[in-house]
Amino acid sequence: MSSQPSLGEFDIIDKYFQKSAPRQDVILGVGDDAAVVALPDNSHIAISTDTLVEGVHFFADIPPRALGHKALAVNLSDMAAMGAEPRWVTLAITLPEINEAWLAQFSKGFYDLAEYFNVSLIGGDTTKGPLSITVTVHGVVPHGKALRRDGAKPGDWIYVTGNLGDSGLALAHLQHQLSLSPQQLELSLKQHYFPQPRVLAGYGLRDIASATIDISDGLYNDLGHILRKSSCSATLKLEQLPLSETMNEAVSIDQSIAFALNGGEDYELCFTVPESNKGSVDTSLSFSGIQYTCIGQLAPGKGEIKLQYKDKPYQLDQAGWDHFV
Ligand code: ADP
Ligand code: MG
Repeated sequence: MSSQPSLGEFDIIDKYFQKSAPRQDVILGVGDDAAVVALPDNSHIAISTDTLVEGVHFFADIPPRALGHKALAVNLSDMAAMGAEPRWVTLAITLPEINEAWLAQFSKGFYDLAEYFNVSLIGGDTTKGPLSITVTVHGVVPHGKALRRDGAKPGDWIYVTGNLGDSGLALAHLQHQLSLSPQQLELSLKQHYFPQPRVLAGYGLRDIASATIDISDGLYNDLGHILRKSSCSATLKLEQLPLSETMNEAVSIDQSIAFALNGGEDYELCFTVPESNKGSVDTSLSFSGIQYTCIGQLAPGKGEIKLQYKDKPYQLDQAGWDHFV
């Protein structure tokens, strides 16, 4: 660490980032020059990194427990989108100061989620500077089973997990673009601060989905990635979009469609399923306990998305778009 804080880098690591016994497959965890892990047979390793920077990805006053959760959750969501089982993470954290109350809460948010999914923190880096958090996750997936973005085909059905738009709704409130009731705010903030990575759904999709992506930038953008990688177009049936009661109560139907398509930070999965596997979706996902909804179908194309509401073409009003760009 370039500039030594009062508590000391190693004290911080000992106290806040070495809290639970690592998985059995961790040969060397925190405390050596590098971590060493044992790899399972017949598996590929899936690796992903995400950085959260204060002022860019979160506000300075975000509850530290939420930040700890979210920094890990966004990475686990990438594993879910690959159908991979997350196993090991590293954490590079840059802190402006040593605030023990803050660190305790951050660490709690991080570890609560890590322990839930049996993920071990095996290393990282701790530096002084503007607040920023980078998590790298390593997961395993059986040979040939990784869920990619480029496998979708015309005719496949489009699904999403969970509800869409609540995180964006909470963000709009935090940015004073609308005003939610205390209860609406509490429910939507839960989605914004504590997204639930759909790891179990990812396992269930390994044998049935033709393409999968996690929705971090809004359904419209992220479905677009599948479409372009797979050379398809899509028709979305907007009346099918899964919306929470909070969303339905808080805003008009047109606004809720805008939030669902463009709100961002849902961390739900969008996946495509060939007609021949459609009957297996129930069985594959039932054990995960995760809600899922069919919202449209693919056709040949180059990435176009056709919006329909009750079988009529739907024009998202310009305000609905501008709000998010
Ligand atoms: P090096 O000088 O080799 O970079 P460091 O002094 O940065 O090692 O880190 C010492 C040990 O603590 C290493 O095993 C590193 O992976 C781990 N570590 C450092 N910061 C963190 C952190 N925020 N979370 C988890 N492990 C960390
Ligand atoms: Mg270091």
